[in-house]
Amino acid sequence: MNKGNKIYEGKAKILYETDNPDQLIQYFKDDATAFNAAKRGTIDQKGVINNKISAKMFEFLQSQNIPNHYIKLLSDREMLVKRVEIVKIEVIIRNVAAGSLCRLLAFEEGARLSQPVLEFCYKEDKLGDPLINEDHVRALKLATDEEIATIKTYAHRVNELMTKFFKSLNIDLIDFKLEFGRYQGKIILADEISPDTCRLWEVGTQRKLDKDRFRRDLGNIEEAYQEVLARVSQ
Ligand code: UDP
Repeated sequence: MNKGNKIYEGKAKILYETDNPDQLIQYFKDDATAFNAAKRGTIDQKGVINNKISAKMFEFLQSQNIPNHYIKLLSDREMLVKRVEIVKIEVIIRNVAAGSLCRLLAFEEGARLSQPVLEFCYKEDKLGDPLINEDHVRALKLATDEEIATIKTYAHRVNELMTKFFKSLNIDLIDFKLEFGRYQGKIILADEISPDTCRLWEVGTQRKLDKDRFRRDLGNIEEAYQEVLARVSQ
């Protein structure tokens, strides 16, 4: 697979063209940002670890009939993916209160929510990815009603599947962010699924195995990411 032009560079990943116009190479960097890039740093080996964790998660979700952009691993930091048109929405699902939900609505961190809470954020860095509702999605023409319905159905199903999957590894899925894209007229899951995009707490000890270790300078960040990789590789 020949690596062509770089078409996009984000905070944690780079996308390159390939010989096939329908496929891209997704390259995972060690760079980490938090709080809308106000905090920047690197996490040693993060790109390698997140590439492998994302591959595992996408393979698992494909086996459970959740279509996604993953095709195959190409190298330590690269996966081959379907080229999608990204829907400019970040979809967040929360099972337990943490992060911005605690700041916004004064939930106590760790409080279990009575039902999963789905949020949409407008994927627009210059606005700081603000929280929006479905009317905003329509007003901004970010997705059609049918696409919104599909995205919500997939997001809730991914939550059920990943919650069970992580529970079997003694990990509580606290919350996570998904991104979707359009491929051949259909909505599919895209981006990555990793400790950068999920909050993962060890069952019992509530030890954080995710990017909160970086956000809050808790130390042992690489070890925590490695531990998630070891568990999902079981
Ligand atoms: N999240 C993400 N990218 C973002 C914002 C959030 O992957 O740009 C993930 C985050 O890692 C967490 C979940 O979405 O698992 C909910 O994030 P929250 O809104 O609490 O974000 P915070 O403000 O704490 O970063």
